[in-house]
Amino acid sequence: MKEISISPKISKGELVRRLGARKGERLSRATKVKVEGLIDTLSEFLSPVIHYESRGLARITKSSIELKEGPVFRSPKIAKSLAGCTHVVCFIATIGQGLEHRVREKFEANRLSEAYILDALGSVLVEDLVQQFQEFIAKKCAIQGEYVTLRFSPGYCDWPLEEQRKLFSLFHPSRLKVRLSKSCLMVPRKSVSGIFGIARRDEGQHYSPYNPCTECSAKNCSARRAPCATTYAQ
Ligand code: SF4
Repeated sequence: MKEISISPKISKGELVRRLGARKGERLSRATKVKVEGLIDTLSEFLSPVIHYESRGLARITKSSIELKEGPVFRSPKIAKSLAGCTHVVCFIATIGQGLEHRVREKFEANRLSEAYILDALGSVLVEDLVQQFQEFIAKKCAIQGEYVTLRFSPGYCDWPLEEQRKLFSLFHPSRLKVRLSKSCLMVPRKSVSGIFGIARRDEGQHYSPYNPCTECSAKNCSARRAPCATTYAQ
């Protein structure tokens, strides 16, 4: 089990979206002042860390992938997305418990708008943490002539939330900064777990990771991804 710490950044656009603004809308001046004030204090509450483990891929069927020495993850969409992969990176990332304590304090002090903004900031930060982690691995892979697939998390797309237990079984619980509740939710809440595949690419060839959303008819799926902008080339 490996562990790295990366400083997550705040995407202002993503924060505005999470605060409920529609496309093209801006935050009011009063909200902006609150956001800036809260951002200034954030570093005191963050303890970002990513635990990860790379495993060989033993077998892929139409509906599952099997890692070397287990487990088997059941999801037809992941199986299709990871076709051709040699390895799977499994990860659990968190920005720690501090921000959640701060959110609770704000609620208890009836400072509801600040609590809401802080909570949204936590969501933006943990997403950025995972994005930066995947980019870090993708750069290392590119040097070795490999590329990474899109990432998937238990409870999204067609991957059952209960499979979170299998993912957590790959990590030593006493060294993890995240624990799993009986209902398979992560504590701290501002945590993200998931997997992505690593595949070899032929020299000079362009790759665009397979995106199952491009051929999925699910309506109102909050996890739908835009067609991949990322291509990998020599
Ligand atoms: S739209 Fe994408 S994320 Fe949503 S169910 Fe379909 S494939 Fe999965």
